[in-house]
This record gives sequence, structure tokens and C-alpha cells, in this order.
Amino acid sequence: MFQIKRSPWVLHYDGSSCNGCDIEVLACLTPVYDAERFGIINTGDPMQADILLITGGINSQNADVVKQLYDQMPRPKVVVAVGVCACTGGIFKDCYNILGGADKVIPVDIYVPGCAARPQAIIDGIVQAVDLFQRRLEKHNDYMKEHAHDKNDAKNKKTGTED
Ligand code: SF4
Repeated sequence: MFQIKRSPWVLHYDGSSCNGCDIEVLACLTPVYDAERFGIINTGDPMQADILLITGGINSQNADVVKQLYDQMPRPKVVVAVGVCACTGGIFKDCYNILGGADKVIPVDIYVPGCAARPQAIIDGIVQAVDLFQRRLEKHNDYMKEHAHDKNDAKNKKTGTED
């Protein structure tokens, strides 16, 4: 089992759905299932979010919203598609306005199947997301450390303070 070094913030967005998975996600955040014991914090602000939990399919009206939410999240980030609607479009996939699952517009890292997805499966997806987020964060921090010198060199060259 991995060790949680930082509490990732989770943003939940419901696309085009029956709200069944949406309710299961909310159940996970209540004390009954208590997903917060894995160190996550729920937020409504994409600019503070590390993990996007998306339920429901993508339609022509929410496609740009989902893209914008994803783009507003800082790097590194992880996306979890919860329920078959978010995975593939599910039972709505043949509807005239449905484009498909979340991966039609953003990269999805973890797919949680089910209609509705069970809280246990959602929590499993969250735990995988926390693990993946931590690995990406470590990689990102190493990259930033490695390139901190490059940045300073470029800055010194610009200001003429180079040795
Ligand atoms: S997967 Fe099933 S329960 Fe979940 S939003 Fe779609 S239709 Fe509703």
C-alpha cells in the first residue's frame, strides 16, 4: 500500500446522465463510505483540483465545459470516469446528442464500470487515482528540480548577471 504524502483535491462533474452514478459519488463522500479517509478533499474549484471524477456522458453542450474544467486544473492531474455513461456513453450512447464517454474530449486515466457504479468500485477508482496522482506529482517535482537551473541560467542571461 502506498503512503499518502499530500491530500489530493477532487472535483466532481456530472455530464449527461440519469444522476444514478452522481448519487453514488456523493454517497462515497458521506461518513458511510468515507472516501476522505484516503486523504482526498472535495472541492468545487477546478483550479485547486488534482483529480477529476466525471459521471455521465459527453454531449454537444457539455463537451466544451468538460474541456475547460480539465484545462483549468493544474498539472499533474488524473481523470476518473465513473459509470458506463462516462466510460462509453452507456445506455445513452445512441442518442442523437451524445458524443460518447469522457475520453471523447479529455484523456481518461481510470475507468470505473457499472450502472450505477457501486460505491466500492468508485472508492477503488479513487484509491488508484490517488496512487497515480502521487506518482505523477513525484515525476513532476523531479522535472521541476532538474530544470530549475535551466530557468535560472536563462534569467541570468536576460539580466546580464551570469557568471
Ligand atoms: S451509468 Fe447508469 S446509473 Fe450511471 S449515470 Fe449512466 S445510466 Fe445512470
